[in-house]
Amino acid sequence: MKKSCIKIKEIKNIRTLINDIKSGKIGWYGYQGKTILVGYRKGRDEEGRDSKQRTYWDRRKKGLCVKCGKKVSKKNPQTGKLYRLCDRHRKELDQKKI
Ligand SMILES: [Zn+2]
Repeated sequence: MKKSCIKIKEIKNIRTLINDIKSGKIGWYGYQGKTILVGYRKGRDEEGRDSKQRTYWDRRKKGLCVKCGKKVSKKNPQTGKLYRLCDRHRKELDQKKI
């Protein structure tokens, strides 16, 4: 995160901050001259996923290779769902198995 794009929400009452934390809001808060970051714990979101997992699920949802983000066009004949890896990475994985 770049410092320049941080928007600090000035709060006068600590209750406001506590209420925001309880409702799952994130961001930078200014309180009594101090800056407080309210964010995901260890970079995790509300579902407990870290950034790596978020990328993984984001790509899976969009039908992209989870390793490189390339569009996956082939479906798994057994499940009828798109493969989670592109041709190249699927081949690499197959070779590792052998
Ligand atoms: Zn790939």
